[in-house]
Amino acid sequence: MIKITINPKETEKLAGFLLEKFIEKNRKQALVIALEGELGAGKTVFVKGLAKALRIRSKIKSPTFTLIKSYGLPRTSYELHGTSYKFLYHLDCYRLRDHNDLESLGIKEILNNPDNIVVIEWSDRVKKALPEKYIKIHIDHISDTQRKLNIDITL
Ligand code: ADP
Ligand code: MG
Repeated sequence: MIKITINPKETEKLAGFLLEKFIEKNRKQALVIALEGELGAGKTVFVKGLAKALRIRSKIKSPTFTLIKSYGLPRTSYELHGTSYKFLYHLDCYRLRDHNDLESLGIKEILNNPDNIVVIEWSDRVKKALPEKYIKIHIDHISDTQRKLNIDITL
């Protein structure tokens, strides 16, 4: 699926809309959303949209130096979506060499836990750490305010 957005707000809204589509009840593993695209493409903006849709109040900043951040989901988020996700994990792999750098963070347990939604910026750097099934979104810069999002679900 290809979507064009014409400002950051639209990218945020699209993230919320897509989240509704991705949510799956009785999931056995984490819901994984892999974000690709150059610096400034809008990956973090997309994560902000996810966080808003999940009613997370904390400010979202890309964990470029910390690599990983987790946010507890408020109860309103479960009621809203009728699911039992409990955490959003936000990873930024910009500074990583490859998937080996992720293993020490306990990524396996995070990905195996169906309570988690895991969104990964620069996921193309850690392809080998990704589960079999995940949602890949590649964001391309078209102009100052236009972005093209290529959304791909691997089965
Ligand atoms: P990344 O995380 O991919 O490096 P960011 O999300 O941090 O990128 O930054 C994207 C930048 O592009 C922000 O400054 C944002 O305001 C701007 N922008 C302009 N148009 C859009 C759009 N349509 N969607 C997302 N971001 C946009
Ligand atoms: Mg970012």
